[in-house]
Amino acid sequence: MRIKYLIRQLLCLCLWLVLPVCSMAEGQEFVVVIDAGHGGKDPGAVGKKAYEKNINLDVALELGRLIKNNCADTRVVYTRSTDVFVSLDGRAKIANDAKADLFISIHTNALEKGRIARGTETYTLGMARANDNLEVAKRENSVILVEENYEERYAGFNPNSAESYIMFEFMQDKYMEQSVSLARQIQSQFKTHAGRVDKGVHQAGFLVLRATSMPSVLVELGYISTPDEETYLSSKKGVADLSRSIYNAFISYKKEHFKPSVPSVAKATNEKKEASASEKKETKKQTGGESKRDDRPVFMVQILSTSTKLPEGSSKLKGVKASYYTENGMYKYTTGESTDYNEVLNLKRRLESTFKGAFIVAFRQGKKVDVQEAIREFKAQK
Ligand SMILES: [Zn+2]
Repeated sequence: MRIKYLIRQLLCLCLWLVLPVCSMAEGQEFVVVIDAGHGGKDPGAVGKKAYEKNINLDVALELGRLIKNNCADTRVVYTRSTDVFVSLDGRAKIANDAKADLFISIHTNALEKGRIARGTETYTLGMARANDNLEVAKRENSVILVEENYEERYAGFNPNSAESYIMFEFMQDKYMEQSVSLARQIQSQFKTHAGRVDKGVHQAGFLVLRATSMPSVLVELGYISTPDEETYLSSKKGVADLSRSIYNAFISYKKEHFKPSVPSVAKATNEKKEASASEKKETKKQTGGESKRDDRPVFMVQILSTSTKLPEGSSKLKGVKASYYTENGMYKYTTGESTDYNEVLNLKRRLESTFKGAFIVAFRQGKKVDVQEAIREFKAQK
């Protein structure tokens, strides 16, 4: 390993003078998942000549190649390495199953006809504070509309309705700090290494980031709808510079956040996976009922979220019998309680006109759990 490493260093001396490399961490593995957005039947944004899916894949593969060649301690996992369709929750599942330490989703931006913009943006999960950011999330999330059973798979999430995004408002992401740290470094590298316009680090409600349980970012490489950017994004130089920028950021992120000297911290993988749902959202369910021995997830419709507890019979509940749980200092009101997901889904549909943005949550023995996982479990039981 060491000899190969030295030979490679001699052969590519000129490149190595400027290429940062991984510090070697013996016996430990850092797992990075590289997610090329779209693919197969979903082209993503379409330019005059180019498809987003191909640009994303070119940059993803080049980034993976750089990491594989230079970081012996890092395992690269692709959500796709060819032109195939992968669902958003499928992508997140690949990352969660791989117990990844980092998730990098690669996309290309676009604006409607007549609007011109240039530059790169990097997103972390959160509530969009600007309309343009919400538009990006809507466009990227709307790929679920071509997935089968998307209504059930995403618990009634409508990618085009602003109300659906309310849930991102109170979402506490325990990996936020690390994600933002990587996002900043990527943006900085895009600017200094690739000479791109820096459009900054933002937050928005991306489904693919929501479902991953590790630090994660979503990169928008540039605008396929802007002719000179389309040409750059489709060029060898564009792909090389952009992937190298992300690579540089990855190296400095990893140096900063991955401390190989403490094995127990670096790879507490089992705990990490189990913690993904419960720790991301610290919850406590306040139900009056007796604790059930039943281990199956219980589904409910969340209709309202308030910062103060509502008085008995509050008109805000519009006559609906609801109970509440607290999460991140908020009182969250739910109604309907069933282990039958379909029943709760029907209830949610009936309530939607009264409570805009109502959505389904799941609990197991009083603890909030990941709703997608609960649905999968429900389906597996049937
Ligand atoms: Zn995209």
